[in-house]
Amino acid sequence: MALQTHPAVASMREVHWVVRMNYRGRTVSWGMIFAVCVLLGQERAWSWGHWVALVLQFVAYPQLSYLLARHSAEPVRSELRILTLDSFCFGLWMSWMGAPLWLAYALCACGAMTLAAFRGMGGLYQAVLAQASGALCGVLLWGFEFRPDMGPASTALSMASLTTYLWIFAHAVNVRTHRLNRIRWQLKDSERALQQQLLEISALQSQLREQANRDALTGLFNRRFLDATMDRELARCQRMAEPLSLILIDIDHFKNINDTFGHAAGDEVLRRLAFLLSTDARSSDVVCRHGGEEFLLMLPHMPLAVAMARAERYRSMLESSVMLIEGKRMRCTLSAGVACYPVHGKGPSELMAAADSALYRAKRTGRNRIERAAEDLSTKSVPA
Ligand code: GH3
Ligand code: MG
Ligand code: MG
Repeated sequence: MALQTHPAVASMREVHWVVRMNYRGRTVSWGMIFAVCVLLGQERAWSWGHWVALVLQFVAYPQLSYLLARHSAEPVRSELRILTLDSFCFGLWMSWMGAPLWLAYALCACGAMTLAAFRGMGGLYQAVLAQASGALCGVLLWGFEFRPDMGPASTALSMASLTTYLWIFAHAVNVRTHRLNRIRWQLKDSERALQQQLLEISALQSQLREQANRDALTGLFNRRFLDATMDRELARCQRMAEPLSLILIDIDHFKNINDTFGHAAGDEVLRRLAFLLSTDARSSDVVCRHGGEEFLLMLPHMPLAVAMARAERYRSMLESSVMLIEGKRMRCTLSAGVACYPVHGKGPSELMAAADSALYRAKRTGRNRIERAAEDLSTKSVPA
C-alpha cells in the first residue's frame, strides 16, 4: 500500500527550502530566546508593554514572516528582506535591554551568520548595518544603556539557544549538501547514459549508412554507392590528369547454373566471385554488384593496360577453379568489358556504355573473354 503524505507536510514541502529552513530556525531558536527574555524580564521587572512586545517579536513575528515569505511571488527575495529586518529588530532589542552579553552575542552572531550564508560578505555587512541601525534607533528612542550582566540561568539558556540555532543551521546545510551531491551523481549518470545512447545512435547511423551502400547477398558495394561515387572519383582523376578504369563483369550462362544446381548454388557462386574480386582490391577501388550476376569494378588511377591484365587474371582464376557446392563440382567462366577514362569517354554514362558494349562484344565473340572498349575519337587528344 502506498504511503500517503499528510497534507500539512505536503504543503510544507511545496514551500521554498530557504523559507522552510529559516522558519524552522526561527521557531525553535527564537522560542528559546523568548524564554531567555522571560528570565531577564523577571530579573529586571518589565512592564506589561514590554511583555506584549516580547510576545509579538519572538512568538508572533516568526509565524507572520513565514506566511509573508511563503505567499510572496519571490519567496527567497522576501525571506532575505525578512532576515535583514530580523537583524534590525535584534539591534533594537539589544539597545533597549542594554546589550545583555550572551543574549546580544547569540542574536547578533546568528543574524549575521544567516545573511552571510545566503549572500556572502555582502550579507554579513548588510546584517551588521541593520543591527547597528536598530541599535541606533533604540538609543535615539530610549537613550543609551549598557547592562551586560545576566543571571546564570538566562546565560545558560542563551548559550543553549545559540547552540541549537547553529545545530539546526548545520543540519540544514548538511541535508542540502547531500541532496546536491545526489542530484550531481544523478546528473552524471544521466549524462553517461546519454553519451552511451549517442554513441549507440551514431554507431547505428553508420551501420545503416553502410547497409544502404552494400549489397545484402555479397557484401559488395551496390549500384547506389557506385553512382554516388563515380562522379567524384572521375572529377578527382580529371584534376590529377590520372586515368580511371571500369571493368564490367558478367558470369557466363549463369541461368544454366541456377537451372542445374539450384538458386542457392547460384547465390553461392555470386558470393565466391565477389570474394575473388575483392581479394586484390586496393583501398581506392570500388568493387560493386551491379545487378543480377553482373559486377563492376571502378579503379581510379589505373591505366587501361593494367585494368585489362587484372580482368584477365580474374577470368583465368575463375576458369581454372572448381567450386564444390553441396558436394557437386562446378565450373564457370566470366566475360568482361573494360573501359578507361579518358580514352573511352569523359563522363560516367559514356564510360559505362563503352564498358557495356565491350562486354556485349565479349559475349558475342564466344564468352570467357575480356574485351576492351572501342576508342572514343572525341577524346583522342587526351593521353591515357
Ligand atoms: P549470359 O552468358 O548471356 O550472361 O547468360 P546468362 O544466363 O548468364 O544471362 P541471363 O541474363 O539470361 O541470366 C541471368 C540469370 O541470373 C537470370 C537470373 O535468374 C539470375 N539471377 C539474377 N540475380 C540472381 C541472384 O541474386 N541469385 C541467383 N541465384 N540468380 C540470379
Ligand atoms: Mg547478365
Ligand atoms: Mg550472364
